Order: sequence, then C-alpha cells, then structure tokens
Amino acid sequence: MEITFHGAAQTVTGSQHLLGVNGHKILLDCGLYQGKRQEAIFRNSHFMFEPNKLHALVLSHAHIDHSGNIPSLVKKGFRGPIYATHATVDLCDYLLRDSGGIQENDAEFLNRRAAKRGEPQNFEPLYTEEDAKKALQYFTDRSYDEPFEVAPGVIATFYEAGHILGSASVVLEVEDKGRKFRLAFSGDIGRFNLPILRDPVLLRDIDYVIMESTYGTKNHRPPEEAQAEFAALVKETIARRGKIIIPSFAVGRAQELVYELSRLIGAKQIPPIPVYVDSPLADRAATVFWAHVGLFDEEARTLALENHADEVFGFSSLKYIRSVEESKALNDEKGPLIIISASGMCESGRIRHHLANNIGNPRNTVLIVSWQAPDTLGRQIADRRPEVRIFGETYKLKAQVATINGYSGHAGRDLLVQWATVLKPRVKKVFLVHGEPESLTALAAALKEQGIEDVRAPELHETVEI
Ligand SMILES: [Zn+2]
Repeated sequence: MEITFHGAAQTVTGSQHLLGVNGHKILLDCGLYQGKRQEAIFRNSHFMFEPNKLHALVLSHAHIDHSGNIPSLVKKGFRGPIYATHATVDLCDYLLRDSGGIQENDAEFLNRRAAKRGEPQNFEPLYTEEDAKKALQYFTDRSYDEPFEVAPGVIATFYEAGHILGSASVVLEVEDKGRKFRLAFSGDIGRFNLPILRDPVLLRDIDYVIMESTYGTKNHRPPEEAQAEFAALVKETIARRGKIIIPSFAVGRAQELVYELSRLIGAKQIPPIPVYVDSPLADRAATVFWAHVGLFDEEARTLALENHADEVFGFSSLKYIRSVEESKALNDEKGPLIIISASGMCESGRIRHHLANNIGNPRNTVLIVSWQAPDTLGRQIADRRPEVRIFGETYKLKAQVATINGYSGHAGRDLLVQWATVLKPRVKKVFLVHGEPESLTALAAALKEQGIEDVRAPELHETVEI
C-alpha cells in the first residue's frame, strides 16, 4: 500500500491524502488549500493524480479545509462515491454551495478590479454554486461505528472525533496481497466536554496512523472556564448597557454559542438578553444540528428533548436574522444585546457592518471566540489596534475587546499525546499531518518521549510505502 500526502503536509490547510491499495486509488479528504492567492489558485485547480481514476473518496468532516475542493474534483472527472457521516453530508450541502457562491463573488471582484486598472478580465471561479450542486449528488452517507466497503479489500468505519457535528476519525481495515493491517486517519481531533458534541473516541489496535497535529505546542483553557468567562463578559457589558458583537464561524461555533447562551439563561447566570444570530448560513446550519439530536452529548440531548423539536436550544429572546433589511435595522436597536455574525475572521459577510457600526463605542464589547489568522480584520481587532480599516474606511477601535480561547474545537497538545499513546502497544508508524512545522516537531518529540519510535511528518506530495 502507498500513501501520498497531497495536502495538509507541513501545514494546516488543504487536507488530501491518496491511498493506493490493490490497484485502487482512494482519497482521504479533499480540502480547499487556503493561502497566498496565486499558490492557492494553482494548488486547488491542479490535482497530482487523475480524478477520473479515483475509486472513492472518504471524508472526515465538513470543514472547508477538508471538504472544500470536492467540487473541483468532480468538475475534473471524479465520479465515485464520497463517503461521509449523515451529518457531514447535510452540512456539506450548505457549506459547499455557499463556498461556490464565494468563489463566484471573488472572481467577479477580481474582474471588476482588473477592469478598473485596464487589465484583462480573465478570472474564473475555481468552481460555481452549480458545480457544488453537481458534486453533492455523489455524497453517500454512512453511520458511525458501522463498517462499509470502500474498495475491494478495504473496509472503513467512522468513529466520533468530537470536533464538529458529524466529524469522524476513519479506520481502514486493509487486506493487501494476503497481508492484513489497520490504518487510521484521525481527521481533526476534537476535545472532551465541548458544548453539544460527544467526546472523541480514542481508537485502539491500529498499525499505521495519519494524525493531525494542529496544536502540538499548546493546550487550551477548559470549556467549563470558557463558559464562566463568557457569563462574566456578558454581565459586564449589560452593566454598561453596551452591545456584544461576536464574529463567529456560521457552522459549528455559532450553534455552540447559542447553546451556551441557552444554558446560561436557563441557569439564570445571565438575564434573558436579546440575542441576534445574523448569518443566513448559521440559520441553515442550525436546522442540520436539530436534525441530528442523536449525535449530541447527553446534556445537550436532554435539553433538546425538553424543548420543542423545532426550537432546540432556542430561548424567547433569540432571533435569527434573515433579510438584509432586518440586519440593517439592528443598528437602531438599543443595547444591551448580543449579535453573533459571520465570517469568523471578519474577512467577509455581515459582521463587517456590525463592527463598523459598533467598535467606536467604548460601552460595547467585541468578543473573539476563535483563532484569527494573521492579517485578517479579526486579528487586528484581537490585537487591539487603535484603528482598523473596514470597507476602505478607517474606524477607531474604542470598544472593549475580549478573547475566550476555551471554545477551540481542536485537541490541545496533551490530548494529542494521549490519543496517540493509547495506540502505542501496536502502532508501527505515525505520520503527522495538519500542523505547522513547529507544531509537528514538538508533537513528534512528545510522542517519541512516550516510546512511540517511528514518527515523522511527510513533505508535500511525498509517497510512503507501508
Ligand atoms: Zn476541522
């Protein structure tokens, strides 16, 4: 068997690993590569293998850096099944169409800019919403914990990864020329005690493993502390009669925040303050969550069953904003109130309007609840720059800025080490992917310290034989 690491090698983005077994090619994940524009265009529009020769794709979870290049794969001729859990299929339905729309808008923007500069307008979207719809028909859902055949001699099983709804680690039982072994692909490993989600399953009896390494150097604060910090910040801002603006990813984090607020209000830790979720995608993602209550952890499932099926975790002061008019009307609302809006790093979407309207007022709070990439508007605000630019204009940042890091959906260093150490009695080789070089080096050293000898981080497009 061969494994070639075509993405998320020495970096965190563009997850894509190609397996060759028994004359069949199987792809694990097909994520969008996000980075410098020219490189991203090249990487996302060129596959290092022939998509029409691929037998099947196995997808770990719905995040765009794992699923976002599937429409390109289908556009270039892939016609095989795309295996994923039910919830991942449902989330991809919204995420990939949304991503197609973003690709179209980006190309339009670049062409408009080129026109202004008198340059040729030859930018084309990587894929369109229509391409995404075509790709979605190849999705084939599978349940957790139930083995299924991916190709002759290859049986796969999804296990809960506890990272976002539907997220899975994949175990492949391979029979290759009379030799049998078990290969695991961790996907993104989540955390224990995250809101809504079940805890990650620790895999056992694995021979070879492809493992994520996002946080090889650091641990996060526990989710319980994040909840207490959240409650305190809400109370402080209410006392100032201010507004709380929360940039959030529309899928996953937005639903977790609504759930946290529902718990806090239910437990009377905060008063029933008006909460507006201003993101059409978050609104649609919420319906996917409610369709998969069976995947919630016990506390969330109990809460869900106590409520009416169509308003799980809803509370009377929660409102989803749909139209642009309703979104604009929020400017006239007096605080205290909470606005949760996308995108998570403030690079696009309605959040930019809410920031422009609210960051000049010291009574307000901007609450950062997820990692902000360098150079994004979200990072500039998290770094408390005195001035930021939004829509080409300069705004003074006078609002309070608070960061809560306890909601991260990624395992911290200690859990990564624990996850791998459980495999120690049997594991022969560990391939570290989905981490920046510093993190890969640190995690490799930590695993060797635990007595796991053969640990390495493959280079991009490197092939290994097992
Ligand atoms: Zn992920």
